[in-house]
This record gives sequence, structure tokens and C-alpha cells, in this order.
Amino acid sequence: MRSCRLASLVRLSVVIGFIALLFLLYFCVILLSEEFQTRFEEDYDIPQVTPRSHVLCVIVPYRDRLEELTQFAPYMGSFLKSQNVEHIILVVNQTDSLRFNRASLINVGWNEADRLGCDYMVMNDVDLLPVNPEIPYGFPGIGTIRHITSPEYHPKYNYSKFIGGILMLTMADYKLLNGMSNKYWGWGLEDDEFYLRISESDLRLTRVSGLTTNRSNTFRHLHGPERKRDYSNSNDKVQRAFKRQRDRISGLKDVSYKIATRRAMNIQNITFQVIDVELNCDISWTPYCKL
Ligand code: UDP
Ligand code: MN
Repeated sequence: MRSCRLASLVRLSVVIGFIALLFLLYFCVILLSEEFQTRFEEDYDIPQVTPRSHVLCVIVPYRDRLEELTQFAPYMGSFLKSQNVEHIILVVNQTDSLRFNRASLINVGWNEADRLGCDYMVMNDVDLLPVNPEIPYGFPGIGTIRHITSPEYHPKYNYSKFIGGILMLTMADYKLLNGMSNKYWGWGLEDDEFYLRISESDLRLTRVSGLTTNRSNTFRHLHGPERKRDYSNSNDKVQRAFKRQRDRISGLKDVSYKIATRRAMNIQNITFQVIDVELNCDISWTPYCKL
């Protein structure tokens, strides 16, 4: 009787042992399987490396061109929406009584764009509308500068070293170049100096090409030749010679200004940012900054 109970006890423990062994084996297989690894990642929320989406800041150097801005902002907003480009339009409005300084305003725009978290930028004149939907406003890539209003398509300028109008690059690359020179008060030449900064760097300048349109229908230039420009002092030989020189000192790092207001504006359901900026002028360096 006793030996019979003992025998069934042994049999039971063998069965239990066998089942335990099976469980052990099962867990070993699961542990090693890929399925477990993915399950583990889901359960424990291991951070996945997902590519960050790019954000474009459209930096518009601006003063007193409301009629053009009224067309530009809604047009640009819907153009970029149709290309699915995440973006912020930043109008950098010069409010001091000095001569207009496009390059310094773009430097200020970079600082704002940096605060807002943009990783690439386009300096875009308020009077130039991209008409052809093929014109690329997507991320240009690090180390690549994209001249959008290339001489082939700009309605007015076609000299080979022209990089004015609309120019796109990453925020990091603009910083690498120390932005643009601050010595250009009044119309012209700031873009030509920026061309020299680019050509002396390791960055690659590319120009938009291969479009199905031409100079007459790729961009719309909102103003005609009757537009008054600030050429004052342009017959001053000293100033002209000075402006033709490469500037290795001034730029993004030392642009001097005060922001009076930051405000949002809305035209035709397109919201954009306006920054009212008072630039400072170093009279001893650029005495021609005064109107
Ligand atoms: N700009 C401005 N107010 C001025 C002068 C210039 O807003 O009084 C800005 C505006 O974005 C303009 C750009 O600077 O498109 C370039 O100036 P402009 O169009 O007169 O020069 P262009 O490139 O046509 O020779
Ligand atoms: Mn213009």
C-alpha cells in the first residue's frame, strides 16, 4: 500500500518536473526570438530614432511696402501649404530712421528663426512671388545653398554671380558663414558680398534649373522699373569702393539692434510674424548709414 503511494508520488513529480522543463524551454525560445525583442521594446518604450521634420523660416527684409506684403503673405502661405512645407513667415520690419539695410535685417531674422526652432531658411524679397509650383522650397540639405531666383529665371537680373532675390540654406550653414555683412546701408551689393563668403567656403552653391517655365513666367516681380530705390550717395566714390570690399569682420555675430515689438498679422487667413526692428549704426565705420 505504502509502496504504491510512493510510486504515484514519484510519477507525479516526474510529470510536474517535465512540465516545468517544457515551460523553461518555451521561455528560452521566446527570449531569443525577435518577436520578444519587439514586444520588449513596445512594453518598455525604448526611444525610436524617427527623422525630425524640417521647418522653414521665410525671412522677409521689409520696410514700407504694405501693398506688396498684402499680396506676398497670403500667396506665399498657400504656395508653401500646397508643397506641404512646414514653415513660419517672418517679416523683419526696419523701423529706425536709418537707410534700409537688407543684410542686417536678414541677420536679425536668423536670430528670430533660431528662437522659433527653424532648421532652414529662405531670404525672400517681398516683391518676388514663385509662380511655377515646381520651384522647390523643400529642405536643401546641409552644406547646400539653393539659389531659387537663379539668373536663368529672375525677371530682371541675370549676371552669373547673382544670388539675390530668393536664396535658401540651412540655419547651420548661414551661421557658418557668419551671415551677411552689416555695412550695406542703402540699395545693393550686399548679395554680391555674400556670394564671396559662399565661394570662399566649402559650401555648395546650386541654382534652380530644369523648370518648364522661363524668365517671364517663373516669378512675378511685384513692382516695375518705376519703383524708387535708395541710391543716395551711390556717386560717392569712397563709399562705393568700400562696399566693393570683402568684409571679413561683420555679420551675424555682431549685428546690433533692438526689437521694439513682435506681433502676429493675418491676411486672408494666413498668419505671419512681424518683428519691428531698430538697427544701430556705427557712425565711425559706416557714416553713410544716415538718410
Ligand atoms: N525692401 C523693402 N523696402 C525698401 C527697400 C527694400 O521692403 O524700402 C526689401 C523688399 O523685400 C525688396 C528687397 O528689399 O523686395 C529688395 O529691394 P528692391 O526690390 O528695391 O531691389 P531689387 O532687388 O528689385 O533691385
Ligand atoms: Mn525688387
